[in-house]
Amino acid sequence: MKSKRIETVLIHEGYHPSKYEGSLNPPLFQTSTFTFEHALQGERRFAGEEKGYIYSRLGNPTVQILDERMAVLEQGEAALSFASGMAAVSSVLFGLLKTGDHILCSQGIYGCTYGLLQLMKEKYGVSHDFSPMDNEEMLRSQLRPTTRCIYIETPINPTMKIIDLEMVVKIAKEKGIIVVVDNTFSSPYLQQPLTYGCDIVIHSATKYIGGHGDVIAGIVVGKNDFINEIRMTTQKDIGGVISPFDAWLLLRGLKTLHIRMDRHCENAEKVVSFLKKHPQVENVFYPFDPEHPQYGIAKKQMKRGGGVLSFTINGTKEDAQRLMNHLQTIRIAVSLGDAETLIQHPATMTHSVIPQPVRESMGIYDHMLRMSIGLEAWEDICADLDQALNSFKHTKTVQS
Ligand code: PLP
Repeated sequence: MKSKRIETVLIHEGYHPSKYEGSLNPPLFQTSTFTFEHALQGERRFAGEEKGYIYSRLGNPTVQILDERMAVLEQGEAALSFASGMAAVSSVLFGLLKTGDHILCSQGIYGCTYGLLQLMKEKYGVSHDFSPMDNEEMLRSQLRPTTRCIYIETPINPTMKIIDLEMVVKIAKEKGIIVVVDNTFSSPYLQQPLTYGCDIVIHSATKYIGGHGDVIAGIVVGKNDFINEIRMTTQKDIGGVISPFDAWLLLRGLKTLHIRMDRHCENAEKVVSFLKKHPQVENVFYPFDPEHPQYGIAKKQMKRGGGVLSFTINGTKEDAQRLMNHLQTIRIAVSLGDAETLIQHPATMTHSVIPQPVRESMGIYDHMLRMSIGLEAWEDICADLDQALNSFKHTKTVQS
C-alpha cells in the first residue's frame, strides 16, 4: 500500500488494536521488568536469541509504539525515546564524539546544549566552534580535519534565523561529516530534516510532540545502526530512558499534532502582523514573514512558520520586563509548544548562561522577548499584548 499521509501516521503508526485485546488506545505498560516463563527463556533473551522484553530500561511495549511512530513521522529508519530532550542530545553527542573530535554548531543553540559542549570541551577534549552557516564558503572555512559532526538548530532560538539544510548537507557529504538537527521548534509536521539528507534528528518532545506542557521527554531518529548503537551504549549504560507513562502521554499528544501545529501557526501569523504595526515594537522575527532575511529558505524547507516568534521593543531591558509583568492571559514561562501562550526574556532566562558579548553577537539583546504562541483565540492574545505594550509606554512616559 502507498505510504500513508502524516495525519494518519500520527494516529495509527506502530499500533494495531488486535495485538492488545482490541484496546483502541495503546495500553500503558507501567512495569519496570518482565518475567520469563523459564530460565532458558531468560538466557535466550539476554543472548539475543529470542525476541522479547527483559527490563524497561532496555525496552518497553508502550515506548516501542512511540519509537515506531516517530521513526515514520521523521522518515527515518528507527527512533529512540529519552527521559528529556537533553538526555537525547547528550546521548547523541557522547555516542558520536570522542576525544580530539571537533563539532561545528549553528550560531545559536539551546542554552543547556551550549553548557554540554563546554563540559565536553573541558572534561573530554571535544572541541567546538560556532558558525553563522550563512553560505558555503563560510561553512567550508570553519571545518577542520577533525570535524566529525555539524550540529544545527533551525529556526534558531530566539533569533528565528534559518539555516539552509540542503546547503549544509551538500558540504557535509563531501567530507563524510554527520549532520545532526535539533528539530524541536518545527516538529515533524513542519520540517523533516532527514528528507534533506541530514543524518540524525533530535527532539525535545517536551514541546510540540507532547503539546500539553505535562511531560519532559526527548526523541532521536536516524539510521538503524546508529540508533541500535546508542540504544546499547549511551542510553542503556547512562540510563536516560523515558518512563512508559510519559511515552503514553506523548502518543496521546501526537494524535493532534497536525491540528495543533496549524492553529499555532495561524495564531502566530496574526500576532506577527499585529506586532509589526505596533509603535512600541522595533523588530519582529518570524520565519514566514516575507521580510525575514531567510524567508526563501524557510519556505523551501518548512511547511509553515511555526508557533514561536521573537520581537524587540522600543525600550530597555527594564521596559521588556515591565511589559511582561503587565500581561494578564499570556504566562511568563520558558518552554514552548503548549496550549497556553508563553513569553520569556532570553537575555535573563534561557540564554543567561551565555556571556553578554557572545549573546549580543548572536543577536540576542536585552530588549528582546520570545513568545510561544498557544491555542487561545488570537484576538485575546493580541489584546493582552496591546494593553501590556501600551501600559509599558505609559510607564515609560511617567518615568522619563
Ligand atoms: N532543544 C531545544 C531547541 C530546546 O528548546 C530544549 C528545551 O527547551 C531542549 C533541546 C532540551 O529539552 P528538555 O527540556 O526536554 O530536556
